[in-house]
Amino acid sequence: MTLAVDRRSLLRGRIGRAAGEIRPPFSRDEKTFSGLCDGCGACVEACPEKAIAPGADGRPLLRYRDALCTFCQACGEACPTGAIDSEHGQSWTAKASIGSACLSFNGIVCRACGEHCDDDAIRFKLLAGGRALPLVDETACTGCLKCALVCPTGVIRMRRSPQKEIAA
Ligand code: SF4
Ligand code: SF4
Ligand code: SF4
Repeated sequence: MTLAVDRRSLLRGRIGRAAGEIRPPFSRDEKTFSGLCDGCGACVEACPEKAIAPGADGRPLLRYRDALCTFCQACGEACPTGAIDSEHGQSWTAKASIGSACLSFNGIVCRACGEHCDDDAIRFKLLAGGRALPLVDETACTGCLKCALVCPTGVIRMRRSPQKEIAA
């Protein structure tokens, strides 16, 4: 089997994900995933939404700011190694997290993320100076990825575990 993962990345210790990088749905836990995935690209080819691209280590990441994953599972069905596996993969626990470059937070009118959230998981806390702080309700957020796609500044990232929002 061809090892498509970039060897320089391996040597530099760039295995796994940087902040805001998430694997496709139904991926195994990161350690198991990294052990199984050889960066063959079958998932990238299989995704009908073109929602997957190779990361720095050659393994797949979701392009959630550029395409909307529909959770169709085609990537898992195409994966020959079991790194993405709808039977054994992790449940989807991704949550949205909004960065401080948010337009609204900086006094420019924008509510795109909140308007596209079907789960009403984003609300805005009004601040002085015409600013508004976007807050994600972690309980309500289903990780659907829509807000990250529509944000005009690309400041919404998805993450796997709870984390503090930006501060007012
Ligand atoms: S679940 Fe479907 S849409 Fe989402 S990344 Fe996999 S193939 Fe693409
Ligand atoms: S990921 Fe989906 S549910 Fe969560 S805040 Fe964004 S749009 Fe709402
Ligand atoms: S869509 Fe982006 S820029 Fe607009 S309010 Fe939401 S996080 Fe801020």
